[in-house]
Order: sequence, then C-alpha cells, then structure tokens
Amino acid sequence: MKLVLTADRLIDGTGAAPVRGGALVIEKGRIARVTTKDKLERDAGPGSEVIDVPGGTIMPGFIEVHSHMHCSAEEDAFKHVTTESDQVLTMRAVSAMRLALGSGVTTMRDLGTKNQIAFPIKKAIQDGVIPGPRLLVAGTPITTTGGHCHMFGTEADTEEQVVSAVRQQVKLGADYIKMMSTGGGFTPRTNVRAAQYPAETLRAAVKDAERLGVRVSAHCHGTVGVRNCVEAGVHNLIHSTWTSANPDEVYDYDPKVADQMAEKGLWVDPTLAFDFIWQDKGIPPRPTDRLSLRSDPPRRYEILRDMWDRGVKFVTGLDTGMAHVEFDDFAYTPQVMVEQMGIKPMEAIVCSTKTSAECLGVIGETGTLEKGKAADAIVVNGDPIKNIRVLHDVTTIVARGQLVKRDRKLLV
Ligand SMILES: [Zn+2]
Repeated sequence: MKLVLTADRLIDGTGAAPVRGGALVIEKGRIARVTTKDKLERDAGPGSEVIDVPGGTIMPGFIEVHSHMHCSAEEDAFKHVTTESDQVLTMRAVSAMRLALGSGVTTMRDLGTKNQIAFPIKKAIQDGVIPGPRLLVAGTPITTTGGHCHMFGTEADTEEQVVSAVRQQVKLGADYIKMMSTGGGFTPRTNVRAAQYPAETLRAAVKDAERLGVRVSAHCHGTVGVRNCVEAGVHNLIHSTWTSANPDEVYDYDPKVADQMAEKGLWVDPTLAFDFIWQDKGIPPRPTDRLSLRSDPPRRYEILRDMWDRGVKFVTGLDTGMAHVEFDDFAYTPQVMVEQMGIKPMEAIVCSTKTSAECLGVIGETGTLEKGKAADAIVVNGDPIKNIRVLHDVTTIVARGQLVKRDRKLLV
C-alpha cells in the first residue's frame, strides 16, 4: 500500500525553494514521487493511506552525525559510563535510539561507544529488534594511552598501533573511524590545548582508512590539533574549537587553515549548540580552571561564521550523551546556526540533511527527498523558513518507509 504525506509545503533538502502544497508518495519503503496535493489524484491512486498535516512542512529526516549512544546525557554522564555494567549501558543505548528516532532523527552516526555495545545495537536496529534511526557506527574511538575517551576507546600511541587499530575497527564493522586529535573536556588528565598525535600519524590513519573504503573523523579542540587534522586530510573535523595553546587566551583562530579546510572539502561538525543548550535548560556553567576548556560563545559564533563564509562545509552533530545533551535535542543545532551564527534557515536545513548525508557517504540513499531514495521523511508543525524553532515540533515521522510517529504520537 502507498503511504502519502501532504502538508502546506515541502522542502526537499537540496536547497531548492519550498514547494507549496507538497506531497510525498511512499511505496515499498522508497520515495515513489515528490509532488503536490493538486496532482495527487493522478499519482497516489486508490488504496493509498493519506496523512495530511495542515500548517505543516514535509522535509527529509534529520541527520545527527555525532552521538555517544551509551552515555547518559545526565550531569553524571562521566561517572555512569565509567562505572555501569555493559548491560546497563546497552539499555541506555536502546532507549537513546528510540528517543532520537522520535525527535525526527532518521540517520545517526555514533562517534564513540564500546564495541560490544555499538555493533550489536546497529544490528538490532537493522533486524527490526529495536526501533532506531539508520545507524552508522565508529565503535570505540582511537586515542592515546590515557587520552581523551580512553574509558571506552582503543589506546594506540605509535603510527603502527594506530593503523592496526583502524584495521581492527573496520574488521569489526565500523562505518567511520573516530580519532582523538587533542584532549577533551570529558576526560580528566588530558590536555585540550595540546595535540595527542602528530599530523603524520593522523595521515597514516587516513591513508589506511581510505584503502579500506572508510572515512576518518577526529575530535580537535586545540588549534594545534585542528591544524594537524587539516594537514592530514582528516575527512571530518569534530568541534574545531581553535582553543589557544596559551591558557590565558580562549581562542587562537587561524583563517588560513579554515581556507585549507574549504579547499580540501573537509566537513566540520562544530558541536555549536552545546553552550546554548546548557543555558536554555538553565544549567549553570561548570567552574573552570587554567587547564579546562573555556568558551566565549559570541566569539565562537563569529569564528564559525567566518569559516562558513570561507566555504567550510558544516554538518550537524550535537555530541549527544554528554551532560545535558539529550538524544532528542537535535533541533538545537540548526536553531543555533540560524539564531547565533546568522546563516539562513534553508542553509541550516541543508546542513542538517543533504550535507550531513554527503559527509556520511549515504547521500545516494537518504538526506534529500528525491524519487528512488529511502523514505526518510518528517513533518514539522509550521514553516521553518519563517521560524527555525518549529524543527523542535515534529508531528509525523517516516523512517525507511515505516510510519513511526503520527499526530505527535510515537508508534514504535
Ligand atoms: Zn563526542
């Protein structure tokens, strides 16, 4: 049977102008037609189930490129992931997947979870055992001994060890490699301002990953780590915070390196909604000292805007699972892109769909509403071009052709 979504408008995710009175015809899990309500009788035919959302906008499902499915998203996220059993962490991951799907995330990439949790969760979703987005996983991140996220990472120090760790993750089924180029705020006794790996080691990982047909993403706060990632051709930079090596300064932005990112076509997941989410939820900022990661949100948004203007491609990742960053918080990312960074709503929507699908290598399958692609579509209540915040209100969700939410009620 055909499933048909109709609404006041349709945004296909390619960047094209919204279509008034849009309709999406879904058959056998795929998009059979992207059309309009007035042409529907001819396209849909009898025996179709039609779901009309007055006032709504049909658009591609969201793509969240940065989750940690076994992290609790609570104040004690670090304690939970370092003390709880794998069984409890697996149950957290199951509930996280449902939460993400119910917020309109139809594709998700996990960037760091224990192997024994990440791979079975991916399989359980594929086999229909549990509900969840289409899931791409990195498994454990690759880090230095005692380095960022060593608690659930593979520790590898030398070039040889790093290459071996890449091969191990691919052997287990990794869709993407995650490396830790600098220390991180989540992991005590690491240094956010200093590099964990020289550029040559990152380059060796990129080279071997490319040989095996996967891409590499790397966490980088300190400018030295950002620079190393760009030099090594890491496909997807995470955070790209430009943290200064000098603890008396917050940032040390290098526009020339941003130009290189654009030239090389590297994708950046700036995890830019983090501070905003804490503020929005009324969470007091944590006390900082000279060693911790500091932030200056207005300056950060200015830097990100400059990177954008230089042509750097942005993808949408929240770092879900970290303290107070929940699995159903996706819409904060495009909201902050529009309200704080100052890009257009349509640009933020394209980052959330098409560009992120390109970064993940799944653009042939999803990321835009085009005939033949998997039916990953949502309907939001209102017009996101007028008010980006309506992305928080997803009334209807179809994931891989299956209706999973209707009238704001989750069916899975
Ligand atoms: Zn992360």
